[in-house]
Amino acid sequence: MRSAVYYKNDDIRIEEQPVPEIGHGEMLLKVMAVGICGSDVHEFYRVKHAPVILGHELAGIVEKVGDGVENFIVGDRIFCFHHVPCGSCPRCINGHETACDTFKKVHFHPGGFSEYVRIHPLQVRLGAMKMPDGMDFDVASFGEPVGCCVRGQRMGGIGPGKKVLIIGSGIAGIIHIQLAKIFGASLVVATDIHPWRKSMAEKFGADYVIDGKEDVASKFREINDGWGADVVILCASAPSAIQQSMDALEKGGTIVVFALGGPDQTMDIPLGKFLAGENSVITSYSGGPVDSHIAFELIKSGQINVVDMITHRLPLEDAQEGFRLTADAGESLKVMLYPHGLL
Ligand SMILES: [Zn+2]
Ligand SMILES: [Zn+2]
Repeated sequence: MRSAVYYKNDDIRIEEQPVPEIGHGEMLLKVMAVGICGSDVHEFYRVKHAPVILGHELAGIVEKVGDGVENFIVGDRIFCFHHVPCGSCPRCINGHETACDTFKKVHFHPGGFSEYVRIHPLQVRLGAMKMPDGMDFDVASFGEPVGCCVRGQRMGGIGPGKKVLIIGSGIAGIIHIQLAKIFGASLVVATDIHPWRKSMAEKFGADYVIDGKEDVASKFREINDGWGADVVILCASAPSAIQQSMDALEKGGTIVVFALGGPDQTMDIPLGKFLAGENSVITSYSGGPVDSHIAFELIKSGQINVVDMITHRLPLEDAQEGFRLTADAGESLKVMLYPHGLL
């Protein structure tokens, strides 16, 4: 089978790989659609594992089932979340299942930018979900990125009446805009420095869009009767964006760190101000089974519009072009690859 192998952002090679063997409790999945994630082009993080086959946002058709698999049969159309926790360690029990030691050890083999992947027994149990008739594979693959954002919103306590500021309107920001509305936020303000992305933020439901080069905190307070944001979701990692998140925060408010600029990035928190204001900074990493289930239900019901976030559709052979588009972060949101040809 063919896979797109990552060496670095501008060196993606189509190479032959053996189709994975499967064992007890495992499944072989024919990958029909796989999205390129912003994290796939985080060169600092990816290049140390290269050559590697990335790709973790996918849906496909069950091609083989190992013995012991009871909930799926050959031919089932499924979405599957790539990382799955053990479910029984103290971190899992305390609701931090994405920090579970098992979590990152469970993934698609050899990687989603392939014609076929092996699904781990824990994924079969906790990560895989049947797609309803009529749902497209590329739509189903959004269960992963939407799941990650659902977690960020849950951790940040977004709910009815909350005033939310989303800094950065790439794909994560756009998903957060939609989810904040679904979860009941009464004001959703987004920022970006790129004109096209600002227009996308507006299209996907932001009540106001502020240019990221402006004084975001003052603008937000102008819009919100003088008050700051209850929740700020940081979907950008520039130092100016981090500063904006702290300046725009209302007392009692929470910053959700959702983007990382590099492994050594730090955040300078003014402790006096944060203590007196009972402010919090929380982080949200990936998504657990609860998050992916909520995400998949929102996609199934059509409450979240994912199909219009797909800006580019490419065959697997054009993975290099897909990586370029994603890394450029220009006029693209989700770039989708189709290992068995465009659907
Ligand atoms: Zn992702
Ligand atoms: Zn665990």
